[in-house]
Amino acid sequence: MLCEKCKKNKGEINLPYLGHILCRRCFCNLIQRRVKKEIKQKKIIEENEKVLLIDDKSIEARISEILINSIYKKVKLTKKQVKGFSLGQIDKPTILLIKKEKISKVVIPWNLDKEINYFTECVFSGNKTSKIGHYNEQNIIFVKLLRNVLESECDLLAEFNNIDIKRNQEKDKKIDDIKGLINRINKKHCETKFSLLKSIDKLNKIIK
Ligand SMILES: [Zn+2]
Repeated sequence: MLCEKCKKNKGEINLPYLGHILCRRCFCNLIQRRVKKEIKQKKIIEENEKVLLIDDKSIEARISEILINSIYKKVKLTKKQVKGFSLGQIDKPTILLIKKEKISKVVIPWNLDKEINYFTECVFSGNKTSKIGHYNEQNIIFVKLLRNVLESECDLLAEFNNIDIKRNQEKDKKIDDIKGLINRINKKHCETKFSLLKSIDKLNKIIK
């Protein structure tokens, strides 16, 4: 079967929430447009800006790099390798680099599934949800480039871009429970995660 979008290439990707069977190229374009809408149209990152990418050697870090380079022509991208990344914890060498290079935007390895897990965990444990969305800390904007891209979509992008990285399984029982629950609902209702993201943004305005 041919791709229902370009009607040229072989249709390989049939995700229920997309509504079309797509070829690899049209799928990659679709994700790129979605990220561009979030980041460029909202002016979260603009051309000529200095951007630092936190590179924890994850799929998300590699895809973020590819997307920044294809969406922007003049962004000055620097990479900083870190051993592991967890939200809100930036090591000293990275902070020093940010200050030295006068960087104002930092792209962190993230995705839609992580955003949902983070929010749910905050709500259940009564913690603040101050790091929902792109957030500002010490005058640095932390950008979740892939916050509207599913983990499963990141995995497909990785496959199509020949990125050979194994996904780290999180060992946190609480996160596993939340993940399992949401994945079960998502199996029945394929729009669940996208709807949750919209609800999170709405809810977050109320409870902040
Ligand atoms: Zn196509």
